[in-house]
Amino acid sequence: KTAVVLFTRDLRVHDNPALAAAARAAERVVPLFVHDPTLRAGDNRRRFLDESLTDLKASLRQRGADLVELRGDPAAESVRVAKRTGAEGIGVAADVSGYARERERRLADACAAERIALKTFDGVTVVPPGALRPTGGAGHYKVFTPFWRAWQAAGWRDVEAAPRKLRLPDDLPASWFRDRPVKAGGGESAGRRRLTAWLPHLEGYEDDHDAMAADRTSRLSPFLHFGCLSPREVAARVHGRAGAEPFLRQLCWRDFYQQVLFAFPDLRHKAYRASAEDRWRDESDALQAWREGHTGVPVVDAGMRQLLAEGWMHNRARLITASYLTKHLGVDWRAGGDHFFDLLLDGDVANNYGNWQWVAGTGNDTKPYRRFNPIRQAHRFDPDGDYVRRYVPELADVEGKAVHEPWNLPEPPRGYPAPLKL
Ligand code: FAD
Repeated sequence: KTAVVLFTRDLRVHDNPALAAAARAAERVVPLFVHDPTLRAGDNRRRFLDESLTDLKASLRQRGADLVELRGDPAAESVRVAKRTGAEGIGVAADVSGYARERERRLADACAAERIALKTFDGVTVVPPGALRPTGGAGHYKVFTPFWRAWQAAGWRDVEAAPRKLRLPDDLPASWFRDRPVKAGGGESAGRRRLTAWLPHLEGYEDDHDAMAADRTSRLSPFLHFGCLSPREVAARVHGRAGAEPFLRQLCWRDFYQQVLFAFPDLRHKAYRASAEDRWRDESDALQAWREGHTGVPVVDAGMRQLLAEGWMHNRARLITASYLTKHLGVDWRAGGDHFFDLLLDGDVANNYGNWQWVAGTGNDTKPYRRFNPIRQAHRFDPDGDYVRRYVPELADVEGKAVHEPWNLPEPPRGYPAPLKL
């Protein structure tokens, strides 16, 4: 028996239910990734994807198999590979976004036409979207706290071991494989190392996770986005350790937004709350200054420059910069969300636009009128000003917390703008 495993954003061999099931059920397994030209990602995410594929290929080769890489429509290519290798079945991780679900429907149709069995597996989230329903039955969870309670009480599936040995069918076309000699920085191996190295910090997570300069959060988000790490396995590794709960709560936020997107595929484009105020000013100069980190509000500029420099931003800075754009400058959350999505290594439709809508007051916040005061936030979460000095060199010589309000200095620092007029 032969089975094809179509990898999408589950780029790992550990706790990969589709791969584990194929390894159990078939003598020969064809691990397949299809580069889909209709999916566009910014350079940062493209590089991370490439590194993740390099690492996945190496792990599959260690187990006796390899990674087949093709370009085109994943549904059509998967069926073509199944036919060419005589595979009876295709396994794939069930995904969340509108595009991914449409791809799955096309794959199901193409499989049905060729009498190939298609099997979908959980694995993108800890608890599959749609599995938890609010009391009363229908619909999805619109606010977080009841979801968090149901999520903790839910029965989670077992973690799957990585298959020890895999065998490819014989005589596969050489053109199906790519050379990937580069050493990988992203990918499953790096993600597992990062998780292991970070676990000792779990105990301090509750106290530290908002301290922008200390930068003590896990930085697992890109690995979770591409499925280099299984969220279910991360939850299992954390569970029962001192300090686990506040961290699990964040993982649960991830599942929460995935189930919101599952129920509301337009999350990226449309206000989630139909009654939400969703009219915005056309402020293209302000938007540009925000993007470049030249608003004249140091903590906002530090966050935006961290994003430009690293393709990542601390969660607290994401909250402050997004709130400043939407609630102070009055600019459309979609413009801010698109900028983040372009640059973030962890850019994820559900998490990005779900959080943006939360901040803008059009989404799942139970207090949609909340407005973060960036100066107060700066003093609270960067009390010594180190985060700002790290990313805004024009302010590097201003000592201590005075860096948050350069307009109060006897001599304003050269080269740094005055705050935008609101
Ligand atoms: P940790 O604090 O170590 O948390 C562990 C994991 O929990 C994260 O890796 C992430 O998977 C999940 N998580 C944490 N916070 C959240 C949250 N608020 N919502 C959903 N999941 C969460 N996260 C993304 O993964 N992709 C995005 O595109 C994204 N865009 C965001 C945009 C805005 C405006 C805001 C306010 C937040 C956004 N987040 C996004 C959520 C959060 O900022 C990041 O997940 C977090 O900063 C990643 O760092 P970490 O892995 O060190 O997090």
